[in-house]
Amino acid sequence: MKPSELITQNTTAQIYNIIRTAGEINRMGITRLSGVSKSTISIQINKLISLGLVEEISPENSEQRKLKLKIREGIGQVAGIFLGTTKLKAVIFNLDMSILCEQEYHFENISDPVETNSRIIEILKELCDQYRVRRLWGIGLGFPFPVDFTEGKPDSPPNVPLWHGYPLKELYEKEFSCPVLIENDVNVMALGEGYMGSTRNEADFLFIKAGTGIGAGLIIDGKIYRGAKGCAGDIGHIPIDGSTVLCHCGNKGCLEAVAGGKALTGLAKEKAESGESPFLAQRLKEGCELSARDINDGAIAGDLSCIKLVQDAGKAVGQVAEKLVSFLNPSSIVIGGGLANFGNHYIGAIREAIIRRSLHLATYELRVCFSELKDMSGPMGAGTLILDHIFSSKEFPETLKRI
Ligand SMILES: [Zn+2]
Repeated sequence: MKPSELITQNTTAQIYNIIRTAGEINRMGITRLSGVSKSTISIQINKLISLGLVEEISPENSEQRKLKLKIREGIGQVAGIFLGTTKLKAVIFNLDMSILCEQEYHFENISDPVETNSRIIEILKELCDQYRVRRLWGIGLGFPFPVDFTEGKPDSPPNVPLWHGYPLKELYEKEFSCPVLIENDVNVMALGEGYMGSTRNEADFLFIKAGTGIGAGLIIDGKIYRGAKGCAGDIGHIPIDGSTVLCHCGNKGCLEAVAGGKALTGLAKEKAESGESPFLAQRLKEGCELSARDINDGAIAGDLSCIKLVQDAGKAVGQVAEKLVSFLNPSSIVIGGGLANFGNHYIGAIREAIIRRSLHLATYELRVCFSELKDMSGPMGAGTLILDHIFSSKEFPETLKRI
C-alpha cells in the first residue's frame, strides 16, 4: 500500500471512530478531537457520507445551527455473544451499538464444545433471519474459561477440558464469513462496563467477576491488558493470608476456594446444618438447595451468620484487590458476576480491606462499586470488542468492502 493511501485510510478510520464514540458531533468537535485540518475533515466526512456510513442530522436545539454527524442507522450489524456455564446471552448490535435484539437461552451442559457451538451457531443464524440481518460485519464472543486471544482457542479450561484447543475463531469465521474475536468472560465484561457502565470515560480500572470462579479484567489506558499470554487478571488462585482451605488446583488458601460461589454455598450448608444460621436452617428445612441467593436473603433479613459469610467473602476479595490497587493504581474497582448482588456488607468489606493497607494517594478517590450493566456487561463488551476491531485503522479498508 502506498503511504498516501495509508494516511487517507487512517484518517477516515480516525474520523469515523470519533463520530462512532461521540454519538453525535459537529464538524468543529471533530476538528478539535482529531487535530486534522478542516479541509481534510470535510473531504473525509463527504467520503463517509457517500459510503452511507455516516449521516448529517439537524440539532434538536434550534439555537445550535450547526449540523451534527452520527453513524447511519441500520447499515450493518455485529453480534455480541456471552456464554456462561448455564446460559447464553446473544445480542445483535447496530454499528452505533444500539441494540437490534437480545435473547437469553438456558444451557443445561456446556461440556461438549461441538454440541454447544452448534447450538450457538443455530441461535445466531435464527436471530439473523428473524431480524433480517443480511450479513454480520463481525462477531465478538466471551467464554467462561482462559482463551488464547491471538489464536482464538480455549487454553486448558479447568472445568470443560474437551474445549482445549477447539478452533473457535476458525469455526465462526467459516460459518459467518466475517471477522471473529474470542475473549474470556471477565475481559469482555470489563470492556462493556467501560463502554457504557459504571466506568464509562475511565481509562484505568479493574473489573472483578465474583461468581463460581473469581477473575479480574484489567483496563489500562483504555485497553484490555492481557499480558504476555493472555491470562493477566487470573486472580482466583492468589492465596489469602492465613487460610488453609484446600483448592481444586491442589494449593491451599486460594481466593476462589475461600470466597468463590461454590465455597460460600458449602459454608452456608455447614451453618444451616449446625443451626448456627437460623435463616439458612429454615431454608434447608424447606428443601432448598442453598445458593448465594439464600446467603444474600439471610443477610438482608439480618441473620448474623449470613452477614458474616458475606463480609468474610468481601474481605478476602478486598485482600487481593488491595495488592492490585498498590500495583496498578486504578481509578475504580467494579464488582460483577453472580455474587454482585451481595450488597453493602460485601462492598463495604472489600473497600475496608483495600483501604487498610494501601497508600492514601491510591485510595482517597478510588471508587469500589457494583457493575451497572449487570448481565449486559458481557454481550456489550463482546460487541465493543469486535466493533473496535473492524473499525481500527488496520481493518478499516477490509470493513469498507462489506458495505
Ligand atoms: Zn487454587
